[in-house]
Amino acid sequence: MALTGIDIYKLLPKTNCQECGVPTCLAFAMKLAAGQAELSSCPHISDESKEALSEASAPPIRLITIGQGEDALKVGGELVLFRHEKTFFNPCGYAQLIDDAMDDSEITAKLKEVNESQFVRIEQDLGADLVAVRASSGKPEKFVEVIEKVCKATSLPLMLMSDNPEVIHAGLAVSGEAPLIYGANKDNYEKMVELAKNHKTSLVVISDNGLDGLVDLVPKIEKMGVKDLVLDPGHRKMSETLESLVYIRRGALVKKIKELGYPTIVFPSEETDDEMMEALAAGLYTLKYGSIIVLSDLVSYRALPLFVLRQNIYTDPQRPMQVKQGIYPLGPADENSPVLITSNFSLTYFIVSGEVEGSKVPSWLLIMDVEGLSVMTAWAAGKFVPEKIAPFVKKSGIEEKVKHRSLVIPGYLSQVSGELDDELEGWNIQVGPREAADIPGYLKQWNA
Ligand code: SF4
Repeated sequence: MALTGIDIYKLLPKTNCQECGVPTCLAFAMKLAAGQAELSSCPHISDESKEALSEASAPPIRLITIGQGEDALKVGGELVLFRHEKTFFNPCGYAQLIDDAMDDSEITAKLKEVNESQFVRIEQDLGADLVAVRASSGKPEKFVEVIEKVCKATSLPLMLMSDNPEVIHAGLAVSGEAPLIYGANKDNYEKMVELAKNHKTSLVVISDNGLDGLVDLVPKIEKMGVKDLVLDPGHRKMSETLESLVYIRRGALVKKIKELGYPTIVFPSEETDDEMMEALAAGLYTLKYGSIIVLSDLVSYRALPLFVLRQNIYTDPQRPMQVKQGIYPLGPADENSPVLITSNFSLTYFIVSGEVEGSKVPSWLLIMDVEGLSVMTAWAAGKFVPEKIAPFVKKSGIEEKVKHRSLVIPGYLSQVSGELDDELEGWNIQVGPREAADIPGYLKQWNA
């Protein structure tokens, strides 16, 4: 059972030496209880306490790392059922499926999709996380050939898929560090566990009987010494998969069923032949509670909405998403282009920048850091007010980019336009529309 902050505090050295980066042992204990600190950050903890705490402070869903280095994928480690209770920590990974029975041109095209499915949004890199190579051919040499081709094309971690331990063994020789093995079933688990142990990899446990099969097989595998597991409840029907994913998450967090305390893997690509249904299922499992989602392709018009959905789900709900403070040119803005200002709340940025771009009037958009609050909330909180806006505009560098001195403020700030006029010396304050939808019409008639 999870320990409270006070329980943990009792086991700490209580010297308040601050070497963990936290002012007191009590504060460190609270952070540890909340899953916001690592036990290893305290260098003075005794071995007995470490042993007692390692088990108790471990997240109820084990954190698994696949691959190594910058591209390593971390899944699991979640603490809550619902995002609003705290936050979700480790975004699900999207895997591109490549089959060794595909012809060479198809494999090349899939790998091109993997490499092209990279996007930057709100300063985060979005893209594929994993390549799943399936050995449908059943031939180790063919499997090896395809893995080598994949490794040349991408540095993403791999998942090796076969129920034949000999084929997996051949693949492990060429697949780089710490791939994920798919997987162990009731017939092959002993050999698969040996491979996972020898190569220090994670292992997928595949059930042929839903949750019952997992609860039966997982302890046998744990007992053999492999604990970095990923669970496949084995369904290939959307309603059954979803039901199992919810039971696994609830079982691990609420019922404390240890055997279910692992990340999950799902295969929307095997649940339907309809590509849009596949994307829909992937979206569903992104929300609840797929950890690795294997897709038949990553065509941008289906992949990008998934990446954006994941980005929105795996953010801290207590911290609004923010864009970076700065000057954003929208279109080929020049010295005569209008200058607009708004807050760094990402939703505000996307709505305003979208309308400005839609207007086809090249413009400069000044984004001011107000801790991710919307215009009105930031104003009410005293963060988007004339005495703060004026120095920001002066220091932003916009005066070197335009020869006019007209600044368009959001319509909702009309009540402070006079005050800003006084604060921002040499600038003419213009009040823009209250609604973003009116921006295009406004800009088309704009005059400095
Ligand atoms: Fe306490 Fe350990 Fe942190 Fe020092 S490093 S303040 S002993 S928890």
